[in-house]
Amino acid sequence: MYTALLTAIVTWISANFDLPPDYNYPSIKLVPATQITFTPAQREILSLQTEAGQPSSRREVVSVYDDATKTIFLPDTWKGETAKELSVLAHEMVHHLQNIAGKKYNCAGAREKLAYAAQDLAATSQPSFRLMRLHST
Ligand SMILES: [Zn+2]
Repeated sequence: MYTALLTAIVTWISANFDLPPDYNYPSIKLVPATQITFTPAQREILSLQTEAGQPSSRREVVSVYDDATKTIFLPDTWKGETAKELSVLAHEMVHHLQNIAGKKYNCAGAREKLAYAAQDLAATSQPSFRLMRLHST
């Protein structure tokens, strides 16, 4: 599931950020947002960027990456169709690559900094995986 998309995202992340590519993919589970209730340290509430002049598009997506099981949990409303949805997946894929690479960070903030940078770039640019996703569906 999502193999082609994940391949493209891994390639894109490794090309733009200091993380080695790894094509051992995480599991992706779509679950009701209310079930994404991990410890506060694991839970992430990603306030997605809003496009200028469109405050009504503001919404929150709850997602999490579990290092132990290498699983990305996304809300079951996630369809991978919009730039914002894909940017959230890019964010969590950064955590997966960090985990696979055995990267150690001094604090959660350092770990998040790269993930948010990838998320922002994915949301505001035209990354290759967005085009690929459109053509594959
Ligand atoms: Zn994160």
